[in-house]
Amino acid sequence: MQPRRWQQAWREAVRDPRELLVLLGLEALAARVPAEAAAQFPLRVPRGFVARMRRGDPADPLLRQVLPLDEELLPVPGFGLDAVGDAAARAAAGVIRKYRGRALLVATGSCAVHCRYCFRRHFPYAEETAAAAGWRGAVDAIAADPAIDEVILSGGDPLSLATPKLAELTAALARRAPHLRRLRLHTRLPVVLPERVDAELAGWLATVPWPVAVVVHTNHANEFDPAVDAAMARLRAAGATLLNQAVLLRGVNDSADALAALSERGFAAGVLPYYLHQLDRVAGAAHFEVDDARALALHAALRERLSGYLVPKLVREVAGDASKRPL
Ligand code: SF4
Repeated sequence: MQPRRWQQAWREAVRDPRELLVLLGLEALAARVPAEAAAQFPLRVPRGFVARMRRGDPADPLLRQVLPLDEELLPVPGFGLDAVGDAAARAAAGVIRKYRGRALLVATGSCAVHCRYCFRRHFPYAEETAAAAGWRGAVDAIAADPAIDEVILSGGDPLSLATPKLAELTAALARRAPHLRRLRLHTRLPVVLPERVDAELAGWLATVPWPVAVVVHTNHANEFDPAVDAAMARLRAAGATLLNQAVLLRGVNDSADALAALSERGFAAGVLPYYLHQLDRVAGAAHFEVDDARALALHAALRERLSGYLVPKLVREVAGDASKRPL
């Protein structure tokens, strides 16, 4: 069978930091890209996302999200391997129960882009995916608990699975879990690889029997372009509600201008701001952290500048809490 267009684009992603630097005219940065950081969590970035980076700018906010740098290797107290308590919240293979009424499926370990700040960069994905064994353990766990009314597909990136695989899950859930009311997907694919939102995906979304929320994870207005706008339009046409969850990242979006532009640009594409997360304190990501006082000041500035519906909630995830914790 021919690979789908998005799968082809996925395979052609840049994986070699030196190639990325050459494409951007930033060869001089190579000395700051240690092989060890790239080996711990390999670089991966689709070429369409690279095309949205500014050539010759080492501070480009999209580049900073994906380029392994020497800062990652500095051990920093308080930054660990399982920053949000995923290991303790595991309910079945690939199923995480943290919050009332919701089950999160680590659908797959794969992502189209590797984000340097990712709190799951050390999580043992390969052993923990819900899609293994035809979703059996995950569907059993959800079917057995009528208190679960929302299933959250996360990862990795759930849209890295082929659409028929996703359809297999929702068909099994529709059959065996009549108590479900909502489906939520957390994904970066519509932004980093908009080709993923093809007719097959839209067809699947349009036919699932619950309202669907798609939470796209974008951190900077420059991540949007006409192809992304078109992908968002296709998701909305399929009936999905689009929300954005960003992470507050030093050197990427830690200014009122950048955050306001992100909300406004997202809304122009039909995406409502949802959360602005304080960074999860994962080893290797300390250089992205913004302290709480500054985060609160930025959030106050956003409230002054934007209509209320364009201001995301500023939160942090604390392992063991019953919900995200507002700052
Ligand atoms: S796409 Fe999401 S899960 Fe994957 S590396 Fe980026 S932040 Fe992590």
